Amino acid sequence: MSASESEPSLDFIRTIVAEDLKNNKHERIITRFPPEPNGYLHIGHAKSICLNFGISLESKGVCHLRFDDTNPTKEDTEYVNSIKEDVKWLGFDWGENLFYASDYFDKLYGYAVELVKKGKAYVCSLSAEETKDYRGNLKEPGKNSPYRDRSVEENLELLKKMKAGECAEGEHILRAKIDMTSPNLNMRDPAIYRIRKAHHHRTGDTWCIYPMYDFAHGLSDAIEKITHSICTLEFENHRPLYEWFLEQLDVPSEPKQIEFARLNLTYTLMSKRKLLDLVNSGVVNGWDDPRMPTIAGIRRRGYTPKSLRRFCEKIGISKHDSVTELNLLEYCVREDLNETTPRVMGILNPLKVVIENYPEGEVEEMEAPYHPKDESMGKRKLPFSREIYIEQEDFMEDPPKKFFRLAVGREVRLRYAYVIYCEEAIKNEKGEVVELRCKYDVDTRSGSGQVKRKVKGTIHWLSAAHAIKAEARLYETLFLSENAEEGEDYRENLNPNSLKVAECYIEPSLKDAEVGKSYQFERNAYFCVDKDSTPEKRVFNRTVTLKDGWGKIKNK
Ligand code: ATP
Ligand code: MG
Repeated sequence: MSASESEPSLDFIRTIVAEDLKNNKHERIITRFPPEPNGYLHIGHAKSICLNFGISLESKGVCHLRFDDTNPTKEDTEYVNSIKEDVKWLGFDWGENLFYASDYFDKLYGYAVELVKKGKAYVCSLSAEETKDYRGNLKEPGKNSPYRDRSVEENLELLKKMKAGECAEGEHILRAKIDMTSPNLNMRDPAIYRIRKAHHHRTGDTWCIYPMYDFAHGLSDAIEKITHSICTLEFENHRPLYEWFLEQLDVPSEPKQIEFARLNLTYTLMSKRKLLDLVNSGVVNGWDDPRMPTIAGIRRRGYTPKSLRRFCEKIGISKHDSVTELNLLEYCVREDLNETTPRVMGILNPLKVVIENYPEGEVEEMEAPYHPKDESMGKRKLPFSREIYIEQEDFMEDPPKKFFRLAVGREVRLRYAYVIYCEEAIKNEKGEVVELRCKYDVDTRSGSGQVKRKVKGTIHWLSAAHAIKAEARLYETLFLSENAEEGEDYRENLNPNSLKVAECYIEPSLKDAEVGKSYQFERNAYFCVDKDSTPEKRVFNRTVTLKDGWGKIKNK
């Protein structure tokens, strides 16, 4: 992939990077994407991935993939593997640069000892409750812990004991000695190490003390000589602490932390904790449920890497929190799928049509191109016969003047086939139309050169005898309100209709359609073949409808 699919304008972070390069501040730019492997990546992470990998590509630098795996109780190799797969799928390559904070546990412990020796850290034995009380709040300063003035020797001794597993969880923590009166709560002697007698997915039972995120993260950046440590705005008031550790310690480099506004999307939940909850409680069918905002879910739904990269490019980077319209994401998906997907016939709500004057038993093959503009996609043959299915929506009993589809006494063109005229609608005992009786005009076959007649509407169809049954999964947003986090309990906003399963008919060429492949069902929507498909039955996920809500907003 090229550095950028279209020239990106210089956002404020790229401007900083460009300046630094101009001033020869760094030999080369090193960024990193630092996920914690405690869940699957979501569309918000895609923004961070595109930014970090994008900058490294544009500046001929490198971007590390680093797992910030400091919390053994919540992390798992399943997540590590999914994250790698997702970053690759998005089109990015970390090359040799795959790292784990857990690889630095020895070094990090060394840094902790260095802080203790410098009198900049101490072992505190307050209970969790007491620590909270001593911390104060935004209005009131904190109080010094009674253990703050332990001697260096005593601290070293206790830290060793903590590491050796001789203390109970919660008995002690190691804290930075900064300032209990700081207006920034993060600077009030934050924890550096805590005791956790837990198995780590990579280091096993080697450790029973684990470094806190703020300590491990910045120092891992420094160890890797990251030049620009880009993170989201909630870390802005952690920056003084990030810098404090770098100042106190003898580190190989001093990365610069820069914050940007995270992606928020309408109708979309982005909290990993809540997404995990949706999975665990069975509201969705796993992390890759196509309704999930996870990269795995989005991929299964049929969104493309290119459309996600394009979306990230369009939303840009800023310092101000905002909420992006889901419509914009869908617009980017349509834009890509429009160019790349074959057009096929699929009928979601079939209505049978009998063409009375068409010879029984006869089958014609109608040639139909797969794409209106891209001839390289080729053509296929669509069988046509006396009984066909059309979409229920394409018939109206009592149509308004401007309804250019079928009604009794009106005619319509069948795409790639003939003009038919409707003579009668047959109803069942409930009064519903269940079948149409039509006549065709033999002189109107598409492509025959004889077609002179102007007909206003063209509809899609399938030969009933040749149509194949399939399952269509029709998705709506998982949440009903734009702000998915709204209210006391986010579950109250769940959309009961987020998944509707429908029987549908597809054309014969789709019989063995490959899992993951996308199509446009003409006049319907984009669909993608789901992994639940069997040799007997294809399952299609509706990726996105054809209707473009974004265009409408823009042109209002
Ligand atoms: P957690 O609550 O578990 O920390 P997280 O979403 O912050 O959740 P991380 O694994 O820490 O998950 O995130 C990895 C990187 O992705 C971080 O640099 C983070 O800033 C960035 N990131 C997370 N969510 C978003 C978002 N919505 N928009 C942009 N970047 C994000
Ligand atoms: Mg985080």
